Amino acid sequence: MFSKKMIYPVFLPHAGCPFQCVYCNQRVVVSHDRWESGILEFVESGLRAYSNQIRRSGRSGEIAFYGGTFSALPLALIEAILAAAAIHVKQGIFTGIRFSTRPDCLGGEVVDLLSRYPIRAVELGVQSLSDSVLLKSRRGYCARPVYDTVKRIRDEGWKLGIQLMAGLPGDTQALFLESMRKAIEIYPDFLRIYPTLVLEGTALADSFRQGVYAPLSLDEAVTWLAPAYDLALRAGIPVIRMGLQADPALEKPGVVLAGPYHPAFGCLVKCRWWRDRIDIHFASFPRLCGDGVVLRVPPNQVSDVIGHGKSNLRHWKARWGASAKVVGQAGLAGIEMIVENNCQRAVLGSG
Ligand code: SF4
Repeated sequence: MFSKKMIYPVFLPHAGCPFQCVYCNQRVVVSHDRWESGILEFVESGLRAYSNQIRRSGRSGEIAFYGGTFSALPLALIEAILAAAAIHVKQGIFTGIRFSTRPDCLGGEVVDLLSRYPIRAVELGVQSLSDSVLLKSRRGYCARPVYDTVKRIRDEGWKLGIQLMAGLPGDTQALFLESMRKAIEIYPDFLRIYPTLVLEGTALADSFRQGVYAPLSLDEAVTWLAPAYDLALRAGIPVIRMGLQADPALEKPGVVLAGPYHPAFGCLVKCRWWRDRIDIHFASFPRLCGDGVVLRVPPNQVSDVIGHGKSNLRHWKARWGASAKVVGQAGLAGIEMIVENNCQRAVLGSG
């Protein structure tokens, strides 16, 4: 529901990470080249490739360093990488630089260095704001220092992205939604939300095999995320991704051992959100269900309203006896909707 700006990612799997987190194996989640031959050379060749691509397409955007803990790399290496990227920013090829990092790896010294370069956004892998979940997931920090790091990012005028995970060890739907509420109170510029998967080559995979950790089912994960998405929508905070990006690397046998992986996970959550919203509406206005119900929604929302494989249409028929027809209507935007049948009409805005 929000416009997307171009991001040109350079993945540096586990570069700078103080240790491998229990659920994380960056080497298997994305098909990408390896940087083992030398990070700086790898980055420079990525910058050149993207520059050529942007010159051809004319679509500028931010260069992003993902897949590791960028700000925990050796300072000299960070400086060399940023200096290389900044040349392209100065030439107008990129609009700026963003990177992902951990909340406990953005201290004053590295911020001083970063502040000399055109950083636009920092994506913080917060994962949870519940101390018990952070402890059981062995993240190595508790919730309080997250707020100090957020303040440092804000003081520099950088955009803030917060990444949360659902279904970590010790997590419950209530704890997850509490983390989500706390994240919204921080009021980041955007959110990413990922359900926890059991990836090969992780400590979580060992716990799963030993029967100590059980991941969420796909339905549970969608059920947890739909109200979280609702909270973000109501707060006006863009959720720029839900679920890992579909990638051939993830589809390889033996990579995702268990857990709620679906190549269109975000779409499933949005479909559920529409289903729940319209359920509430049908419950409140029983005269507006039954046969002949027309749901008028923004044209770009039609497929989410219908549901994956028409699942929402089947649900409303079974639950409310409503043979709903979904129509894309020009002039409606965001989550606006008109529900009508031959005896009543209701217009819903952001509620
Ligand atoms: S979750 Fe982040 S900090 Fe942990 S291993 Fe993965 S990339 Fe590194």
